[in-house]
Amino acid sequence: MKRRLRPATVVVEAGRPVRTPGAPVNSPIVMSSTYVGHEQPGPGELVYARIGTESWEPLEEALGQLENAGRPGLLFASGMAAISAALDLTPVGGAVVAPRHAYHESLVALRHQAERSGVRPRLVDIADTAAVRAAIRGDGADLGAADTGPAALVWLETPTNPMLEIADVAAISAAAHEVGAIVVVDNTFATPLLQRPLELGADVVVHSVTKYLAGHSDVILGAVVTRDENLLARVRQRRTTAGGVAGPFEAWLALRGLRTLALRVERAQANAHELARRLQDHPAVLAVAYPGLPDHPQHELATNQMDGYGSILTLRVRGGAAAAARLTGGVHLWLPATSLGGVESMVERRRRWPNEAPTVPEDLLRVSVGIEDVEDLWDDLDQALRASQA
Ligand SMILES: *Cc1c(COP(=O)(O)O)cnc(C)c1O
Repeated sequence: MKRRLRPATVVVEAGRPVRTPGAPVNSPIVMSSTYVGHEQPGPGELVYARIGTESWEPLEEALGQLENAGRPGLLFASGMAAISAALDLTPVGGAVVAPRHAYHESLVALRHQAERSGVRPRLVDIADTAAVRAAIRGDGADLGAADTGPAALVWLETPTNPMLEIADVAAISAAAHEVGAIVVVDNTFATPLLQRPLELGADVVVHSVTKYLAGHSDVILGAVVTRDENLLARVRQRRTTAGGVAGPFEAWLALRGLRTLALRVERAQANAHELARRLQDHPAVLAVAYPGLPDHPQHELATNQMDGYGSILTLRVRGGAAAAARLTGGVHLWLPATSLGGVESMVERRRRWPNEAPTVPEDLLRVSVGIEDVEDLWDDLDQALRASQA
């Protein structure tokens, strides 16, 4: 029997070609839209590259192993293509419980579903487990008269983007399953190295592979992973029909990036933890949020649920949105850019996006800490913070 390898080994080992003399150690990139076939293709036979290609298989295998799904995941052209396909598991008119601070484009997708197919979004404070349970059962006081009854799908993001709230995945999954709802977790921030939602009881995991998994800010890619054969078949059908499929080169690049995930996550989160501690005492900083700080409201839950606190933190600068904008304009090493999870450190003011939730403070900066030398990161951030106070 094959021994289950630890995640830091899986990222290096999974998805390699079969070991035979003369075989390459890395999978080839196969540029072909179609395959020579039988009149009636056999099970698993490749027929057409929108339906399936060998270029996806190594990465799909690795992601399935990392999330402990027992079967390969499904690759998509972007995180949003994966998220849209997973959201399509909601029946017409079904209620969806979701964090009010989920990734803004996921909330837009949910809003579109509400407009087109009568889906009823129930946006909650995902850290308030009692409120989430009430929304799942459909007896919450906040629901409108037309929106009662149990939820069909529970959308989780933990930590949330950008507010870094932590959802209790095990407790919420148990409550969801009591009413027959499907639980989907966007695991982009934590990565499967730090958090494995399927092991906590969730049904489906989605990823923006663009971020930590690929890790070098050079590809857009997404994935869906589940243990459930039936859900997997439905999501695969959505992929084939919607056609948002990944290119062979992007899949290859992402797998190459994945090989160093364990090292990158380890270094980036050590940097993030150190910067969070120092920022707490900075005169230009109003507030710092990082799940690894003891004063984070869900620090204990994060400690129990995760194998590390990740490398995203947020800070609020004294002087409001104008000072926050001066900060992003005043950095030299940090990149003033959206996105996260790359080797390079990035900072952005989230409310510059019109779809960002209005409950996200105007002066809030989302900070994605990379793998540079922490002293260089600190020097640049410190000078930009001071300059922002002008
Ligand atoms: C970036 C991001 C997405 C969207 O992924 P894309 O690859 O940009 O489509 C979804 N969820 C979270 C948490 C993200 O950070």
